[in-house]
This record gives sequence, structure tokens and C-alpha cells, in this order.
Amino acid sequence: MEKYKMLINGELVDSESGEFRPTINPANRETVAMVPVATLNDTRRAIESARKAFDSGIWSGMNVKERAKILYRIVEKMQERQDELARIESMDSGATIRKTSMMDIPVGIEHFRALVELGEKIPTYEPLPWIDFPYISWNFVNREPIGVCAGIIPWNFPFMMAVWKIAPALIMGNTIVLKPASDTPLTALEIGRIAVESGLPEGVLNIITGSGSVVGEELCKNPMIDKVALTGSTETGRHVMKLASETIKKVTLELGGKSPTIVCPDADLKVAVDGSLFGTFFHAGQVCESGTRCFVHSSIYDEFMEMMKERITHIKVGDPLDFESTMGPVVSEAQHKRVLGYIEKGKAEGAKLACGGKVPDELRNGFFILPTVFENVRNDMTIAREEIFGPVLSVIKYDELDDAINMANDSIYGLGGAVFSRDIPMAIQIAKRIRTGTVWINDYHLLNPLAPFGGYKQSGVGRELGPHGLLEFTQVKHIHVDLSIDRSKKFWFDYIFND
Ligand code: NAP
Ligand code: MG
Repeated sequence: MEKYKMLINGELVDSESGEFRPTINPANRETVAMVPVATLNDTRRAIESARKAFDSGIWSGMNVKERAKILYRIVEKMQERQDELARIESMDSGATIRKTSMMDIPVGIEHFRALVELGEKIPTYEPLPWIDFPYISWNFVNREPIGVCAGIIPWNFPFMMAVWKIAPALIMGNTIVLKPASDTPLTALEIGRIAVESGLPEGVLNIITGSGSVVGEELCKNPMIDKVALTGSTETGRHVMKLASETIKKVTLELGGKSPTIVCPDADLKVAVDGSLFGTFFHAGQVCESGTRCFVHSSIYDEFMEMMKERITHIKVGDPLDFESTMGPVVSEAQHKRVLGYIEKGKAEGAKLACGGKVPDELRNGFFILPTVFENVRNDMTIAREEIFGPVLSVIKYDELDDAINMANDSIYGLGGAVFSRDIPMAIQIAKRIRTGTVWINDYHLLNPLAPFGGYKQSGVGRELGPHGLLEFTQVKHIHVDLSIDRSKKFWFDYIFND
């Protein structure tokens, strides 16, 4: 059984206690590997090493092109190991090999590359208008790294989420301590190995595995950390924000969602049905921006439901390592229980189960759930309000577009969403009225590394990806250079002198 090591101060190490915990394959409950359990001391060592590396200037003071050169070496090494990374990701998280080999790993690597390339182009010098009162001064903004960042990531897209934290932090000159989710730590630890092989200076990237309550909380409290970037649940986001407030850390949060899909009467139903299913059942619904509330116009409702019930039979639930499987298990036993609990709640509150709603008989070894659709859902039912984070779709009928938009916006969340319509100008108008950070039109889930991603309302603070996301890893310094060297002209000094 492989025993992984953490990355602290440029070295691959065990935890100081020597303790390990198993990480489980959710498809069969077997142990995939053993992972160190970091103690508070390990966490502090990782933070201190990131602080030392930042303060030494070895990374932040390096030319951005030089930083990029080292980061591209990491990209190359990831590329060489794509197949292996995809397999590890599938076994650790239950994501299908179809998805990890075609999407999570290659797209994650491409995001890493694209973010580094974009970071190279972000100017550190930003001119400001000349100021000629009271005398001419030259003012500019210097874009600087924030310092030591903490990245805390969830279990749904372990590799991709690690990339979204590491690449922007490092290319912008910060150092980072990354904590993967306890359920899915392996590909982040693989990145640690790759970083060592790539010659990243010691302390610049640290990767430690341990619980949210020990490692996660220390990262939010420790005064040596300047910024916390969390992707996780809204509940954890609230907690992280509170802890980070003690030392006024910068915080970016990518949190939960309950995203709406609006299907207009003129939509191409083939696109709308498959798009809505893709929007919900991609990765068994364990995607923060999943379109889990689908608003369908009454004039097309029956046809839409009929098509949906047929198309859903083509989603093949099964062993994630079988390339034919298109949906794997949910990540853990706890999550399995939670999702089944929501399905019972949906039934109890009077929603009509249109399909799924149970564990497939032949797959009782793992944490599988059939793709589940509820119809006749009301937007005030629990299954339409709370984030389930599993393969459960709520279909809600509407008559007036304004009602659909109002219901879409009647949520504490505001992460994603979609509009299906052939009338693109109208779809854009609808998209503008949906209060979320991303809206797809006749599409779902496609994320562009050059476009910002993040949430309105309780779905988060700040953005990831694109220039907006990279700038979250910088701060601005205003430098004012007074060009008048004649003391007699600097009359404002005389506010404090009387001579
Ligand atoms: P989670 O329980 O909030 O965990 C996320 C991370 O936070 C994990 O690394 C976790 O560590 C850590 N953590 C837990 N408690 C903590 C604490 N008290 N202090 C500091 N860190 C703590 O979320 P999850 O269940 O892994 O992931 C699912 C959630 O993430 C969903 O709500 C989903 O919508 C959201 N998500 C959002 C996005 C986005 O971009 N908006 C993307 C993906 C997922 P442990 O694993 O050790 O508990
Ligand atoms: Mg696992």
C-alpha cells in the first residue's frame, strides 16, 4: 500500500506524529493509499517555510518570466503523467475515468498553463493620470503579491481545484500552503512530488494533508498567512471568514450553489434536455455550479419531461474505471447518506419522483445513486432550496418568464445557471437578470481559464480564473513621486511648521 508524503519546505515528509489515514475509493470502499495526518506543528512548519520563502524574495523578487519557466516545467511533468494522474483521481474521488482522462486532468493542466501565461502578461506597473496640483507629481500603481497564501480545497475536483489555487498564487509571486480535502488528497500530493522534481525553490509551495478542524483552522488563524482562498461549502466559508477576520486576512471564497436553468418555450429541446441533464448529472451532481433547479415553460413541459426520462436512461452509472461509465458514485458514505436523505425529504414534501431515487441494486458495494429527477417541485421545497451536491434535479413548471426569473433569483446562492432559447438577444437579457456569477446560454459547465468564475450572494467572495482571478492574488501599492525638489514650493510641509 503506497504511503504518500507531504511537501514542507521543499522536502517530501511524513507528519511529525508518523500518523497516516487511509483514503478510500468510493466505488468499492477499498483503501487506495495511506496519507499523512498533519499535526498543528506540521501546519505551522509549512506556514513558516512559506513565510520564509516569501520574505527572502527568492520567488517574489524573481522576474515573472523566470517564475513562469519553472511553472511550465511543472506543466510538462504533469503532461507526462496525465494517464496516471487520471487513474489516481478516479480511484480517489469516484470520478469516471472518462471524465478525468478527457477533462479533469488535461483541462486542469491547460488551466495551469493558461493562468501562468496570463499572469506573465499582467503588468506590475499601472500608470495613473499625471497630477499637476499643487505641483507635478508622478503617480503609479505597483502590483505586488499579497504574500503567503493558504489554499483550502474541496473533494469534488481535487486536481483542478489545486491548480486553481497554486498557479495564480505562484505566478503572481506569492508563496502558498495548500490543504486538499481529507476525502481526496492524492492528486494534490502528486503535484507536490512534481513540484520538487521541477526545481521550485523550497518553501514556495507546501502541501499538507489533515483535517479542516486542525490544519484548515490554523491556516485561517495564523498571523503569518496573508490571504485565504477557500473552495468549499457555504457553511465552511462562513467559518473561515470569521477566523480570518481576527487578523484581517484577505479572503476569497468559492462556495455552494443552487443554480437555475431556464428553458424557454422556443428552446431546441434536444439541446435543452441534454444540456439540463449535463448541467445536473455531470460528476454525479457534485459540482458547485450544477444546474439543480430546472424551470420549464408549461407549453413544453410534458414533451420536455418525456424526452428527459428517455435521455436519462443513457446515463450509465457504473465502475468509474470503466470507460463506458458516465456517472460514478458520490464521494463518501456520509455524502451518500446525505443525498438519500434529501431524496426522502423531496418525496415527503410532495415532489413527484420522475426517475431514479435509489441505490442501484448491482452497485451496493460503493456509494452509487441513480440519477434522480423530481417534478412538480415548488421553489420553496427543501430540495429546491438547499444544496444537495448529488445527482438530484428538481424540475419546476412556469407560465410567465418573469416568474421563472424571480424564482431563479429566490435563493441564498448565486453561482451559475443557464438559459435555453433560440432567441439569443432575449436569452442575453434573461442572463443579465439572473443574479449569479456565470450564466451559460444553450450550454453548461464550460469554464474558460480566461473568464472569471465565482459567486454572487452566499456563493462566495471574489473571482477565480482570468485576469480578475489573478488580480485577487495581488495587492495594489500607490507610489507617489513628487517632482518638485524645491523646498520653498512644498508649502504643505508648512502645515506643521511655523517659521
Ligand atoms: P467543505 O466541507 O466546506 O470542505 C472544503 C475544504 O474546507 C476541505 O479541505 C475541508 O477539509 C476544509 N474545512 C472543513 N472545515 C474547515 C474549517 N473549520 N476550517 C478550515 N477549513 C475547513 O466542502 P466539501 O464538502 O469538501 O465540498 C463541497 C462544497 O464545496 C460544496 O458546497 C460545493 O458547492 C463547494 N464547491 C464550490 C466550488 C466553487 O468554485 N464555488 C467548487 C467546488 C466545490 P476536510 O476535507 O479535511 O474536512
Ligand atoms: Mg478518497
